[in-house]
Amino acid sequence: MAEVTEQQVLDALKDVADPDRQQDVVSLGMVTGLQTKGGHVAFAIEVDADRGPHMEPVRRAAEKAVHDLPGVISATVVLTAERPAGGGAASGPPPGAPGPGPGQAPGQAPGQAPGQAPLLAGVGAVIAVASGKGGVGKSTTAVNLALGLAAGGHAVGIMDADIYGPSIPRMLNVKGQPASVDGRTLEPMENYGVKCMSMGFLVEEDTPTIWRGPMVISALEMMMRDVNWGALDVLVVDLPPGTGDAQLSMSQRVPLAGAVIVSTPQDIALIDARKGLNMFRKVDVPVFGIIENMSYFECPKCGERSEIFSHGGARLDAERLGMDFLGEIPLDIAIRETSDSGHPIVISQPDSTQAKAYRAIAESVWEKAAASIGANAGPRIVVQ
Ligand code: ADP
Repeated sequence: MAEVTEQQVLDALKDVADPDRQQDVVSLGMVTGLQTKGGHVAFAIEVDADRGPHMEPVRRAAEKAVHDLPGVISATVVLTAERPAGGGAASGPPPGAPGPGPGQAPGQAPGQAPGQAPLLAGVGAVIAVASGKGGVGKSTTAVNLALGLAAGGHAVGIMDADIYGPSIPRMLNVKGQPASVDGRTLEPMENYGVKCMSMGFLVEEDTPTIWRGPMVISALEMMMRDVNWGALDVLVVDLPPGTGDAQLSMSQRVPLAGAVIVSTPQDIALIDARKGLNMFRKVDVPVFGIIENMSYFECPKCGERSEIFSHGGARLDAERLGMDFLGEIPLDIAIRETSDSGHPIVISQPDSTQAKAYRAIAESVWEKAAASIGANAGPRIVVQ
């Protein structure tokens, strides 16, 4: 069947009217962040914050109109309030502002429509992996952490939300596109016993540099709401690097139990890591700790250890900031080669010291996640 086009989606949405203004949502310019890929359609409907709850039937009608189009496997529509009620310039959500977000009832999870099940209800703990900047090995760490958790006997999924460079499918050696059995939900991909879903499946590769908030938020929403994750102990979320508005907004949307920050030992990276800590504090997400990656170099021939980047900075920094230090991973060619070739070291060389280091970190993270679940009896809800 031919793939649905953006034009067909927009044409279908011309039958969906805003009841307050008696005009369709397309003509009113309310449809933003539209993306179609492989029969998966996602977009946002922008509404004034105070109209959110009232607009839920419109959201549902839009979803149905698109879902009914031939060639559509899944349709995800979210309500976003970029503009505060009464207009004004587009701006990010107020960092850490207490109380329900636009269109949310009190106690309702971000992005959750009234009457809908909470997002990721079958997941014990959702854990973000973040970094202050790119290239520090965040995705490599996220994958090996997920595999380490799975090796510990936990049911694990990994959600690749790194819009700048979705690399998890490659690292997990997952190929192809997610399928849908019932025409409504997507089946996650799976390898090495870990379920996986990636922005890379939903967003065209050439969009990252020009993406806008609503597009990413709608793809994120789709990965949380329309993916059949099943029952998981842990869902690891690979966030985009950095601590800007996009990361902040994503951290607010995902019901996180906690976050880990990956940093290299260079001071500059640690300054970035501090920003990461502050970002999660703003949105009231506990930071489980910091992982120092590319911490030292152990010569594969002679075994001599070289501390290239004043190793140990992350441990000291963590102490200073009152954050836990979760462990250190060496700069190691086997880590690079195995993750880049789709056979991460925790799977391909489980007896290596590197794999043991990842498993030890996974164990500490699990302990913290378990404590956090206990402490927050009931689903943890982060509101905007
Ligand atoms: P990020 O997600 O922070 O952008 P990646 O995980 O994609 O970073 O890693 C960037 C590159 O560094 C990849 O080629 C990866 O294999 C490599 N890499 C990550 N961690 C290590 C490590 N501990 N030792 C050697 N290479 C590493």
